[in-house]
Amino acid sequence: MDSIPRRNARYHFDYDRQSRPASQPGGSATRLGRSVEIAVIDFHIHSAASDGALSARDLVDRAAREGIRRIAITDHDTIAGYLSVCQSVPSGLELISGVELSCQWGRVGIHIVGLGFDPAVPAMARHLEGLDKARRDRAEKIAYKLDRNGMPGALAGAMAVADGAQIGRPHFARWMVLAGHVDSEEMAFKRFLGRGRPGDISLLWPALDATVATIIAAGGLAVLAHPLEYKMTATRLRALTDAFLDAGGVALEVINGRPKPGDTDTLWRLVRERDLRVSVGSDFHRDSPYGAGLGVDIRAIPEGIGVWEQL
Ligand code: AMP
Ligand code: MN
Ligand code: MN
Ligand code: MN
Repeated sequence: MDSIPRRNARYHFDYDRQSRPASQPGGSATRLGRSVEIAVIDFHIHSAASDGALSARDLVDRAAREGIRRIAITDHDTIAGYLSVCQSVPSGLELISGVELSCQWGRVGIHIVGLGFDPAVPAMARHLEGLDKARRDRAEKIAYKLDRNGMPGALAGAMAVADGAQIGRPHFARWMVLAGHVDSEEMAFKRFLGRGRPGDISLLWPALDATVATIIAAGGLAVLAHPLEYKMTATRLRALTDAFLDAGGVALEVINGRPKPGDTDTLWRLVRERDLRVSVGSDFHRDSPYGAGLGVDIRAIPEGIGVWEQL
């Protein structure tokens, strides 16, 4: 039986024969005929420029070492990590521009991944400046709420944790652990920062359609990130998808992290129903037993629908 090799295993693949990886890393592929690199890519990764643990430099080095072909660093509302490495990408790895933009659809917070845009286009630069400010304003509001809940000094604390990164709730969560207010970051979200909790500041981000428009204006492609994270009914998710499509979005992120079998059935149905493209990403933040490592094997995805084919 042919089986899909473990992610990050080896990537030479001989499509002229049967779909079976060469047993030696890179070895027999040439001898057997036309060799095609096995497709391991990753279009959703966080660096320390937002809430990831690794620097953009460490990420590209690791991706290259692991034989991943193409990646996008998609930090929350900043491209500083991408910009810090885009001029010096290790050979064998392709880095495309990326960002994960916070936006709102009605009252719901939604994440849109932008890929392959020109970061110098003024519309994108302005949009990111607006998000910088929105995040600073939100941080003040979160700190105020935490103060009211018996946790003074949260703004300075979270900013020290962020250390110049785009500030977000994970930095508050980390500070809350360090300051002894909660036992874990998970608990910080559960009690104070997660949906519907005091530190969940709403109605703050730009609208979904303006966000997609910015990505398009900069020549990029818009992907609806982790559609299952929003915990919507199928009907509501379809409405969100339609709003996203009307705005000019092109793809659903059908693989985010490590989905369990069956998790993505709804998404594949939606993709077929609405004739969408698909994107994939680990949503890597740090090494953890729960999250995915870098890289997604895309060989099981039918040809002609990957967003990567347009980038
Ligand atoms: P923000 O971008 O500031 O709204 O923060 C959202 C980020 O917080 C997400 O991208 C995750 O990385 C992280 N996050 C969300 N929920 C949790 C949770 N329950 N536990 C730990 N981290 C979380
Ligand atoms: Mn995050
Ligand atoms: Mn997200
Ligand atoms: Mn993400």
